[in-house]
Amino acid sequence: MDKRIYNFSAGPAVLPTEVLERARDELLSFRGTGMSVMEFSHRSRHFAGVLDAAEHGIRELLAVPEHYKILFLQGGASMQFSMVPMNFLPPDKTADYIVTGTWGQKAVREAQRCGDVRVVYSTEAEGYRSVPERADLDLSPDAQYVHYTSNETIEGVEFNYDLDAPGLAVVCDASSNILSKRIDVGKYALIYAGAQKNLGPSGVTVVVIHEDMLARAPKGQHSTLDYRLIAENRSMFNTPNTWGIYLISLVCDWLREQGGTKAVELRNREKAAMLYHAIDSSDGFYVGHAKRPARSTMNITFRLSEPSLDERFYTEAARAGFDGLAGHRSVGGIRASIYNAFPLDGVVELTAFMKDFAARNG
Ligand SMILES: *Cc1c(COP(=O)(O)O)cnc(C)c1O
Repeated sequence: MDKRIYNFSAGPAVLPTEVLERARDELLSFRGTGMSVMEFSHRSRHFAGVLDAAEHGIRELLAVPEHYKILFLQGGASMQFSMVPMNFLPPDKTADYIVTGTWGQKAVREAQRCGDVRVVYSTEAEGYRSVPERADLDLSPDAQYVHYTSNETIEGVEFNYDLDAPGLAVVCDASSNILSKRIDVGKYALIYAGAQKNLGPSGVTVVVIHEDMLARAPKGQHSTLDYRLIAENRSMFNTPNTWGIYLISLVCDWLREQGGTKAVELRNREKAAMLYHAIDSSDGFYVGHAKRPARSTMNITFRLSEPSLDERFYTEAARAGFDGLAGHRSVGGIRASIYNAFPLDGVVELTAFMKDFAARNG
């Protein structure tokens, strides 16, 4: 098999072919160094250039203001579930959590180890199909921060607005929609994202943090879990994931070549609209999971009205060259993850397959 297939995996996920080709071309000798990126010191000037490129790429593409730091950490987004409360939720204080899916729920569980967690809004009872309107949220004025998940990867529900909470520190898990659209970073105190959905490989997590938030981090934290110390050391308190940061820099180059975040956002909307149209025009053969206003542009979740057909759907889909369509084991059904790097052609072909499958099995 030397042909690339259509990879709908939720993460690790498809990377741009151009990025992989460039990484391949530079693998044995990175830009005349005679070494791979994985082989030279993170303290070398070669790596300093890579780190600069990744940081500047994210700063430019996400429009991150000057008074924010960009960090590259390890431990995945899941470690941020712990690091955020370890740094910002003392035992006698409260933090607000908005729970619109499985990842938000996991974040709550870790925060509860540190302090008082107030779940101000949860859609668990309805099976995580919607997100609140801003007016539905009653946030605690004394909360240390308010945490939410801008796109719930498993259920396929996404906020279509930046949470605005003046006077409160907004913390956002943007793992599965970072750089998929323009956001107003200025509304956030801290944004984190595991790289393996939209930014690069697993093993590196991007944190964008306001300097005022950094200043709030307590003294005496364990060093590798201390945002301030990591920021002071430009993400090199210890050895960072150099290869992952390098790939993020290449993905940023690729995003610029695509026309930047705005262009990618428009294409993402187009791709998602095609799939949702395939669901909505199927006369009930396919049933979308998320309620319409909360539909994700990144993870399109649906099921077949006849559950016994699920298995046949992904078996035949796999045979037709579509990989990774089985829904998360906790939700079942089908999930098509169509991150930035997922090609429009693959969406066109999947919608044709869906139509044909419905005609044969409806
Ligand atoms: C994938 C994902 C996570 C978990 O990421 P890890 O890197 O595996 O820890 C957390 N939150 C969201 C929204 C995700 O999509």
